Amino acid sequence: VIVKEPPKIHRLDESVVNRIAAGEVIQRPVSAIKELVENSLDAGSTSINIVVKDGGLKLIQVSDDGHGIRYEDLPILCERHTTSKLSTFEDLHSIKSMGFRGEALASMTYVSHVTVTTITPGQLHGYRASYRDGMMEYEPKACAAVKGTQIMIENLFYNMTARKKTLQNSGDDYPKIVDLLSRFAIHHINVSFSCRKHGAPRADVHSVASSSKIDAIRSVYGVSVAQNLMAVEASDDDASSSVFEMHGLISDSNYIAKKITMVLFINDRLVECAALKRAVEIVYSATLPKASKPFIYMSLVLPSEHVDVNVHPTKREVSLLNQEVIIEKIQAVVESKLRNSNEGRTFQEQT
Ligand code: ADP
Ligand code: MG
Repeated sequence: VIVKEPPKIHRLDESVVNRIAAGEVIQRPVSAIKELVENSLDAGSTSINIVVKDGGLKLIQVSDDGHGIRYEDLPILCERHTTSKLSTFEDLHSIKSMGFRGEALASMTYVSHVTVTTITPGQLHGYRASYRDGMMEYEPKACAAVKGTQIMIENLFYNMTARKKTLQNSGDDYPKIVDLLSRFAIHHINVSFSCRKHGAPRADVHSVASSSKIDAIRSVYGVSVAQNLMAVEASDDDASSSVFEMHGLISDSNYIAKKITMVLFINDRLVECAALKRAVEIVYSATLPKASKPFIYMSLVLPSEHVDVNVHPTKREVSLLNQEVIIEKIQAVVESKLRNSNEGRTFQEQT
């Protein structure tokens, strides 16, 4: 019998650990943009402008008019686990900000070259600093700056050859980026968003702060979507087991599309919920078979202690307490809305 020697266990280099972790947080250009835009929203911005070159692989630039970053915080800004948003683990139960782990900017510095230009209120000039592998490269330089922060991500995945190749082959992330910003734009109607390709004369997403969700949807998704929407609401505040509120806009029988669009925010976080999406799709196929690929915008509000935001490295998914109950309630209101609208229509057609 040959006894095989066990392989020796050793500690990974910190730089390797960090690069592996970064690859999980920043999976593709669009994930970097999501993190940057969420930071801008957390900073109280009212205007967020994005420029993208080569699907985000060459350049991503996000400029906002938020509160800026303090000069004395710049040295640790891009270290892993540095944040202004969370202190204790318990803070997670009531967290209102999109970010909390202090990992996004750090991650970007492990897979790209990051430059930050920022100015805080009351200052005469701003500062510019650049970062690699979690570290500031040199003392921040004083520079002219307009209100807020501008973050530039250059040569994303320059040190992850396989990732870069796959992304280059699988086509441009730009449509995904436009889709992401469209979603943000219809939820955050008080914020104006723009997104353009580097050097392009006009923006592909351009939303101005508007007074209603319908106006925002019209300007981002177009008239054909906006004119065929119905408001839906659901809530359950009597049963203490599943307190929630849902406000939404869903397409009616006149809206015909090739695929479903589901824009879901839970406690103002842009998330995916496959179970809810499926539940809604089933109702549409059963009730409005011809319009079975709906446009759905829903905003769910739950007590923050009922939402676990920390289940996915990209925070794309959250887990909810009593998810089944909530989904059933939403399914029921959507169904009754669709039936009513359909009956109204049949009635109109007959008379
Ligand atoms: P997190 O958002 O989880 O705190 P990040 O790595 O995304 O972690 O950002 C680290 C910190 O940098 C934030 O907590 C915030 O204080 C600051 N920051 C990042 N982006 C901005 C911005 N656009 N405006 C103001 N502060 C920012
Ligand atoms: Mg963040």
